[in-house]
Amino acid sequence: MFEKFFYVFIKYIVMYTLIDGKATAAAIRREIREEVDYMRHSHEKVPHLAAILVGHDGASETYVSGKEKACREVGFESTVIRYENTITEEELLEKVDQINRDASIDGLIVQLPLPEHIDEQKVIESIDPKKDVDGFHPVNVGRMVIGLPAYISATPAGILELIRRYQIKTEGKHCVVIGRSNIVGKPMSILLARKDYPGNCTVTVCHSRTRNLKEIVRQADIIVAALGKAKFLTGDMVQEGVVVIDVGITRLPSDKTKSGWKLWGDVDFETVAPKSSFITPVPGGVGPMTIVSLLRNTLLAAKQAIYK
Ligand code: NAP
Repeated sequence: MFEKFFYVFIKYIVMYTLIDGKATAAAIRREIREEVDYMRHSHEKVPHLAAILVGHDGASETYVSGKEKACREVGFESTVIRYENTITEEELLEKVDQINRDASIDGLIVQLPLPEHIDEQKVIESIDPKKDVDGFHPVNVGRMVIGLPAYISATPAGILELIRRYQIKTEGKHCVVIGRSNIVGKPMSILLARKDYPGNCTVTVCHSRTRNLKEIVRQADIIVAALGKAKFLTGDMVQEGVVVIDVGITRLPSDKTKSGWKLWGDVDFETVAPKSSFITPVPGGVGPMTIVSLLRNTLLAAKQAIYK
């Protein structure tokens, strides 16, 4: 009996590596800070990120203030341009055009979602690809697909960086990506299949119309879960030694927290972690890497490292 508990205990403690996104993001912020300090001391222009925020959506306000705070921490300049919901598409496009031509600004993000009367795709496409540090412009997406230097959108870039820093082997592995959104699932599947590291995976993309999802997922060496359904992936759906990247964030009511809610990932950590070799927690996994990736893209923009 004791022996059984001992082995279960050891398996739980030793068998998997927790991918610490919070610590990794903090380390990257320090690295960026050092580079910015060097730029400042050398009298070079420091990176400048501009964000346009339309309306008063609570989540968008939180994201933008998080980005502002992150800019301050690493010594970037940041500008937030706020508009009421009543702004017209034309006025917004004019502002984007003005920022495109402003040499003092290196990167521009337009916080989504935008009000219904504004065509989001039109706005995204109006941003100069050289300043599109969110990596949403079709030029950057296209360049990423064919393997040219490009701004890679923040969440996929953050996941690649975690894989790199934890030296997770990807070559020849079967990776199953659950979700096919333009901001996570689709770019992740392309990036993991590219001829590079991290990459060289055989990738299967699953979505809401996938049949036999359980059987497919059970064959995965690497799983990227990005569907937004709390605790969707359970222990019985994964094979031993799997690498699990949990992108999902679902906020559910909880009577155990002060705030009255708790964040859940797409992965049932309790049952999946003991079978994993590497796993990201929620919170503290992919989430903290997202803003840091935006900072890295802005630094690349300031150094004109993507578009020479
Ligand atoms: P999304 O646009 O809603 O896409 C969800 C995808 O999951 C869709 O492709 C959908 O399939 C698929 N899906 C839904 N239910 C499914 C099911 N039962 N089985 C298989 N596939 C299913 O979401 P997203 O923007 O990619 O975000 C996904 C999750 O990641 C969300 O929880 C979001 O909050 C989180 N997220 C986290 C970060 C971060 O920084 N950590 C960043 C971005 C997103 P269809 O295409 O067929 O509809």
